[in-house]
Amino acid sequence: MFPGTEEAGNPNSNSFVNPEQAGYVGFANLPNQVHRKSVKKGFEFTLMVVGESGLGKSTLVNSLFLTDLYPERHIPLASEKITQTVKIDASTVEIEERGVKLRLTVVDTPGFGDSLNSTDCFKPVIRYIDEQFERYLQDESGLNRRHIIDNRVHCCFYFINPSGHGLKPLDVAFMKAVHHKVNIVPVLAKADTLTKLEVQNLKRRIMDQIEDYGIKIYPLPDCDSDEDEDYKEQCRQLKNAVPFAVVGANSIIEVKGRKVRGRMYPWGVVEVENPEHCDFIKLRTMLITHMQDLQEVTQETHYENYRAENLANGGSPAGKASRGAPPSQSDGLSQRERELLQKEDELRKMQEKLARMQAEMDSKRPEVQPNGNIKTHNV
Ligand code: GDP
Repeated sequence: MFPGTEEAGNPNSNSFVNPEQAGYVGFANLPNQVHRKSVKKGFEFTLMVVGESGLGKSTLVNSLFLTDLYPERHIPLASEKITQTVKIDASTVEIEERGVKLRLTVVDTPGFGDSLNSTDCFKPVIRYIDEQFERYLQDESGLNRRHIIDNRVHCCFYFINPSGHGLKPLDVAFMKAVHHKVNIVPVLAKADTLTKLEVQNLKRRIMDQIEDYGIKIYPLPDCDSDEDEDYKEQCRQLKNAVPFAVVGANSIIEVKGRKVRGRMYPWGVVEVENPEHCDFIKLRTMLITHMQDLQEVTQETHYENYRAENLANGGSPAGKASRGAPPSQSDGLSQRERELLQKEDELRKMQEKLARMQAEMDSKRPEVQPNGNIKTHNV
């Protein structure tokens, strides 16, 4: 049973307090986290949502950012799903709140776990993550270093089916395949289909499985001891809430004169933004307050892993192709990207030529010997 809607307005002292006003996502607070320069430029963040279809991914994303990210969505028929491969849909929206811009890219993975052969359905997802790293690596070593667009995946919400008894083999296999590449945040989907006790038990079971299988999810950072008590309490509650039990809804319902985002059932209304009903606000608070940390972990851990692996392998096939021969027309790069790579190639050749000339001059230069005599090379 859901808590009655009367309770909704009176959260007890122990409950999680939404740090934001209704109608705000909360990223206007991002300037407090980063340097002012980034404020002018705006923030770039990429969130990936993965999980079986029908678990409420799109609904949750739209609820999170108060926007419709999928206006022209096509839901495949069962017959299409059998052979369907996982598609990667990236939608970018620029949202502005109190003068702060956020360029948000949400990467959806329709078809995940849908086809009969679901064991390798996560390969396109891995390829996508790697491609974004590769592109960043290319940009970083190219000419246009100051204006790199960061499309790397900073966070992945992994949706767990609430009707199972914990993680399924596919969940374990996927998370293990990507945990060194991306920050995984597990979410328990459609939490309104479970009782409070069922949510508690399932959460515990999932966390036990995560530990037993050695899955590394995004570690919420510890807060410093000199932080204020409210912030420490917020961190503690966020940590305890993992995997976040969420409910999504796109409709606004009136409950006792208040307009709330929720799902109406014959027995009551589940309010998405009520911390007594689900962890939606906790999930959003986690995402907003840790956006910078998620980016830093992506840069310092996941991207560095990729770079090290790339170096050890002598560069990925994609990287080598563009570093060696001039890129072909069928490489999926835009005209501008191709021109940049070509310029970069020319610059490298010039640098090599200069280095050769320098070496030649050095070999001809007279050397001063310790006794003051000048020794010349015979050429
Ligand atoms: P996706 O395929 O994972 O993107 O799932 P959708 O967002 O399209 O949702 C699939 C269905 O589940 C729709 O009918 C939604 O209205 C419903 N749904 C979405 N979120 C929830 C939720 O939190 N609880 C419940 N009970 N249903 C939901």
